[in-house]
Formats: sequence, C-alpha cells, structure tokens
Amino acid sequence: MNIKKLVKKNVSLLRAYNAKDIPCRIKLDANESPYGFNDELKLPDGLDINRYPDPEAGILKKSLAKNLGVKQENILLGNGSDELISYLTTTFGGPVLYPVPTFSMYGIISQALGEKKIEIPLDDNFDLDTKAVLSAVRKEKPGLIFLSSPNNPTGNCFSTDRILKIIKASKGIVVVDEAYQPFAGEKSFLRFLGDYRNLVIMRTLSKIGLAALRLGFMIADPEIIGEVNKVRLPFNINSLSQAAAVEVLKNKKRLNTSVRRIVSERNRMLKQMEGIKGIRPFQSKANFILFRVANPDGVYRALLKNGILIRNTHYMIKGCLRVTIGKPDENGAFLEALRRITS
Ligand code: PMP
Repeated sequence: MNIKKLVKKNVSLLRAYNAKDIPCRIKLDANESPYGFNDELKLPDGLDINRYPDPEAGILKKSLAKNLGVKQENILLGNGSDELISYLTTTFGGPVLYPVPTFSMYGIISQALGEKKIEIPLDDNFDLDTKAVLSAVRKEKPGLIFLSSPNNPTGNCFSTDRILKIIKASKGIVVVDEAYQPFAGEKSFLRFLGDYRNLVIMRTLSKIGLAALRLGFMIADPEIIGEVNKVRLPFNINSLSQAAAVEVLKNKKRLNTSVRRIVSERNRMLKQMEGIKGIRPFQSKANFILFRVANPDGVYRALLKNGILIRNTHYMIKGCLRVTIGKPDENGAFLEALRRITS
C-alpha cells in the first residue's frame, strides 16, 4: 500500500519543522533562556493527575491578565504559540501573508491547512517593505497577516509606523507576534489593542525560562477570542503546566532579572562579535544574534565539533548563522571558539 498516495498534496509537499535533538555541551540553538526555575516549583498537593485539567486554565489566565493589565476575556491560551498560529489559521483562513525571512511555522501551518501563502521579502534593513505588503494586501486580501517583531531570525523590530499602516490597510486579522518583546526594550503593541479590532498580539513564556511548559497566549478583542476558542482543543493546557506557570509568575522580579541578564549579555556579545574579523553581527532586540560569515556551513560544523550548537540559518538568509544568548560562561566559550575558527 502506498501511504504517500493517501496524503493530501499540500501535506505531502511539506517538510517537517527542523527541530532535532543534537547532542552538545553548550546549547545555543533554540532561543531558550539559560535560566530555569526548577527550585521554585512547588506543585500543589491537591493536583489530581487522574482528573482533566481546568479547561479554561482560569487561575493562570487571571495571573496573566493581571500581569498584562488586560481582562481575562481578552486572553486565549495555547500549547505554545505554535498552537495559536494553527488555531488562528484554522479560524480565519488565508491567504496568509508574512514577510520573509521569518519564523517558519507561519508557512508550514498555512500549507498544512491548505491556505495560500504570500511571502513578501523584507527590505535591505530587514524592515517591512510597506509598498510591497500594501500592494499585496489590496490585490490578494489576506485573511491573516503574521508580523514577528522582534523578528526571528533577523532580531530587529519592524518600524511601528509601518506595522500600523498594514493594520489600518488590512481588512483581515493582523497578528503581531511578540515572542521576543521582553528583550526589546520597546513598547508592546498592546497599547494599540483598543484602536484596531483586527489586531492580535501573540506572546509566549518559552523565551523567558519556561519553554518546557509549552505556554503561549494571544491577546485580542473578546469577539476574536470567542471565535478562535471554538477551534481550540479541549484541555489544551495540562495541569502541571498551569500550576508551574502560576508559581513562576508570582515572582515577577526574578523573571525580570533573568531577562535583564540576557539583554546585558546580548549587548556585550554584539560588541565582542563586532570586533571579530570576518564576522558581521546584526543589531538585535531579541535573545539571539544573527551574524554573517564567509563560510557559514564550515563555521557551524566547526563550532559543533567544539560542542557548541547554534542555528544554521544559511538556508534562510545567505551566509548567516544565529546564536542564542546563553549564560556568560557559555557565551564566552562561543566567542572564544568563533575567534579561533575564523582566525
Ligand atoms: N513565534 C516566534 C517568532 C518564534 O520564534 C517562536 C519560537 N521559535 C514561536 C513563535 C513559538 O514559540 P512557542 O510555540 O514555544 O510558544
């Protein structure tokens, strides 16, 4: 029996998301935080593993709402923001427009769900090409636009006025994916939520120390939340993740400290990398740095030989690699190896 023949064409043409578990000594490839909170996890005694989780994740939602200064009815939780990208695409449909290069799941999910993809290249400064986006918006009328700001893997924020122009021109939903916003030192698009009903802000706890919990959330008009909630799988947030996140969110100071440490290391890394001959790091507002190098595949392999795993983004942006900011000693080992390899 030829199973391939049974698969829908749009799925059969897909390639699975590239997330392998590559053994290494220093892990700087996946934009996680190097700081965990294991010692803070006191799971409640009353947590009954034999019962389904709270389907609304009420306590967690209340804590997030308080943290963000929004109402609970403005929030929908996902098993990672990946799941929310899927829910949004299922709910609103395409065409789905996003700039490239960007986070690959927008394209993978659109294709898996059989939606048309519109990919608009970024300009030379990795900012949005407003003219090209607006022209595609007029012509193709996308049901959904994804803008990751700061953008993965380029690391920059898109200009606020360009994003606003796109939100205003779009008759569909515009998602500003703020996965890396805590590192940006810029104001969140949350402040525009009251002005534009088609605006959705997406966030995640994955980059600030809780990647294992798989917790993403979107903030939007309650009517949008209500519609997307219809396609949400029941019990999508498990009890252990709900309880663990509630505990960690109680200590906002500690969360902020770990973000501050990463930002300070990022700025130190940028300065150091600027001083390495043959390396061109790009400015970053995220917890990673994209850099250009003459022999990206060779440098990637040589680092891995030294036990240091980073992300090879050469297939997305010619000549570029992406390194996640780790702890100071991990970053030091990376810099030292990079200097040695490129000298
Ligand atoms: N958005 C962006 C821009 C990302 O880079 C990532 C993770 N690589 C995600 C969303 C997904 O995050 P998660 O599913 O862990 O919440």
